[in-house]
Amino acid sequence: MEEYIVSARKYRPLNFDAVVGQRALTATLKNAIASGKLAHAYLFCGPRGVGKTTCARIFAKAINCLTPKDGGDACGQCESCMAFDQQRSMNIHELDAASNNSVEDIRELTKQVQIPPQIGKYKVFIIDEVHMLSASAFNAFLKTLEEPPSYVIFILATTEKHKILPTILSRCQVYDFQRMTTQLTVDHLMYVAQKEGYTAEPEALSLIAEKADGGMRDALSIFDQMVSFTGGNITYEQVAKNLNVLSTEYYFQLVDYFLVGNVQSSLLLLNDVLNKGFDGGNFINGLATHLRNLLVSQDAVTLPLLEMSDKMRNKYQEQAQKCKAKFLYQAIKLCNDCDQAYRTSRNKRLQVEICLIQATQLTEDDIPGAGRRPARTLRPIFTKLAAKSQTTAGSPVVAPQTAATPAPQPQHLATPATAKANVSEPKVILRKVSFKRFGGKTAEKTDNNIQETPVEEITTNKPLEEISLQENWFAYVNSLPREQMAIAQRMRMLQPVITGPSSVEITVNSPQIINELNNLKTDLEHYLRPRLQNSELSFSFELAEQEAVQRIYSKQEHLLELERMNPSLTNLIKELQLEFD
Ligand SMILES: [Zn+2]
Repeated sequence: MEEYIVSARKYRPLNFDAVVGQRALTATLKNAIASGKLAHAYLFCGPRGVGKTTCARIFAKAINCLTPKDGGDACGQCESCMAFDQQRSMNIHELDAASNNSVEDIRELTKQVQIPPQIGKYKVFIIDEVHMLSASAFNAFLKTLEEPPSYVIFILATTEKHKILPTILSRCQVYDFQRMTTQLTVDHLMYVAQKEGYTAEPEALSLIAEKADGGMRDALSIFDQMVSFTGGNITYEQVAKNLNVLSTEYYFQLVDYFLVGNVQSSLLLLNDVLNKGFDGGNFINGLATHLRNLLVSQDAVTLPLLEMSDKMRNKYQEQAQKCKAKFLYQAIKLCNDCDQAYRTSRNKRLQVEICLIQATQLTEDDIPGAGRRPARTLRPIFTKLAAKSQTTAGSPVVAPQTAATPAPQPQHLATPATAKANVSEPKVILRKVSFKRFGGKTAEKTDNNIQETPVEEITTNKPLEEISLQENWFAYVNSLPREQMAIAQRMRMLQPVITGPSSVEITVNSPQIINELNNLKTDLEHYLRPRLQNSELSFSFELAEQEAVQRIYSKQEHLLELERMNPSLTNLIKELQLEFD
């Protein structure tokens, strides 16, 4: 029977190029070897399982190779290399300071230091978890480190750089190893799976990578477990079940319930989750993470923060488009409050239920995605026309009509904000609409026509409103493709100012940005006109006078400036009850 070897050992890299995720670092090491500029002591810092010891071994092998390759890699065939690969080389000594941290252990090591190598040029001493050495062991070691024989190289490794004494630090060349990104881990696991002939869903590997939290060794060991659980067919559902991770499906479903205000289904879903043995507090934290992921997905700039497979990322983006940022902030806040109350609550289930109920209510007065429903934004005009004679300022004029109209969310029409907005401008709308659209048709027939009219064909000129201008400005910025990320980022900081019934001005502090904005002008206007129901909407860009650019002195002023540029920041601060520190 073939011997079973754990993946972390079987797929341990044997040369620098095979080391995953430490490209810059391995390149530097290779250069040092190729140019023969070796230090006497190296300090490898970084989280566990990212390749510190592996690199130390590759390094030791490479500098002892009798016929090294040009790039600094070991040949893998000479006597020294063979001895390394078969783990019988006398030129490498490993000491795990976590378990061997006494003065005696160090004395034993210093004895070995005195004996020159028989094959190859260098003796390499790897001291793992060097911060664990006792104080007296440290002192004993320091003497050896100060005056080592020419053939000795120390490689010290630690997960806790801050615990290394300055006297040691100053004598070492320091290399910082990077935590593995989820993507790198997933790629490597996929490679191993293919080599071993297993099938694996990328989402499943993503879950393993997240659980391993940046450590490749841990990821490989979880991977091995999952292989034995699943018999080599690694699916997301199986891994989620075995790692006791709640499937993200639940959260996607739950947010969909929130968006339509479905309290009953939300509570049933919670019941299902609790029945499966998951903890309510963890569930709420998972929900908060899900909402955070949605928030991050709303913006092309922050999208890279989502460390997951493309398929999953698309799924997040899709749901994120249905949510308003405000809804997400408020829902995250609810989860945060619930999390705090949960720990001390005597009825924990009720805490979670209240949180879910409140989250479903968030959407009641503020249905997300309002801008995408042409029928609803148009209806008030015509219902008012029909009920023209009874229109009185201050009354929610549309309410009596809602029962007869097939609006998706009729209650939204009667909210105070909408009613107020309608009242402030009925004259303008009535005049424009009746003039341009009605001709000889009856009001009833036109109403039917309008329902089928795509929003782009509207030729009315609704006066601009700051809030919808702002919203649609951001929507446009967010719709810009990846290649235009740079200008999109700048546009996010700009403040469109209404200067007339159809004109908007933007002040910028660089002529170059004006050029870039002018390139987008036609596209921008084309995008915003139907959405703001203003066919004559026109943008102009002005260069700011230098004196007008405010100088910022303190952090507090900096925050105020940021709030001025992006008013939604003020909302975020308010929603999360943040305080300036
Ligand atoms: Zn060799």
